[in-house]
Amino acid sequence: MENSRRDFLKIAGGVAAASAAIGAPVTTINVAAAATGGGERTTHTLPSLPYAYDALEPYIDAQTMELHHSAHHQGYVNGLNNTEEALAEARANNDFELVQHYSRQAAFHGGGHWLHSMFWQVMAPPGNGGGGEPSGALASKIEEDFGSFENFRAHFSAAAGAVEGGGWGLLHYRFTDDRLLVLQAESQHKFSPWDSIPILGVDVWEHAYYLNYQNRRGAYIENWWNVVNWSQVADNFRMLREAAGN
Ligand code: MN
Repeated sequence: MENSRRDFLKIAGGVAAASAAIGAPVTTINVAAAATGGGERTTHTLPSLPYAYDALEPYIDAQTMELHHSAHHQGYVNGLNNTEEALAEARANNDFELVQHYSRQAAFHGGGHWLHSMFWQVMAPPGNGGGGEPSGALASKIEEDFGSFENFRAHFSAAAGAVEGGGWGLLHYRFTDDRLLVLQAESQHKFSPWDSIPILGVDVWEHAYYLNYQNRRGAYIENWWNVVNWSQVADNFRMLREAAGN
């Protein structure tokens, strides 16, 4: 009992720290803080992009990037701040119907904030950090878990292409058994398993590609591989693996 408790604390603490380093603040912790009513709430902020809006052209156009970052992602940040404030008020008033409502909203906006923060980081200008294939420990793990990079890529593209409605294609690192998993998320938060964290993701909401690709989501996903920042994905993988003690 003592050992398993210690292991859980080690994994949870380490993974939470690594998760915060990959993307945005760890939303569940912020929600929990708001929920107890103790302490000051976190004010979430929009992270700046590590490149210019036109840096991912021709694969992702500047107008799409600007709207996606400054309007859509900002909307999730504002939504999360407003929701956590409303949630804390509902808690203070013991209004459990509103608590239920705002808890769902917090998961949606918090998921959107974290995933977009990660999304910007795992992309880079084509030929200048973006594109190509992974190397080192990440490349070995992809081969071990998927047979080959090509096979992984085909499964990831198929998963992203098949998301029903708005959502994400994701590569997770599962810290309980040291595995990589190709998964989908619907919306910004549904289908989330609790023992793994995304290290790579592609946004397949229509706002991510419609201006340039219209209904051709598959073409967008194929082109998106040209801007994947494998060095960042490898860092995400290494941080989580180390944090989990694997
Ligand atoms: Mn989006």
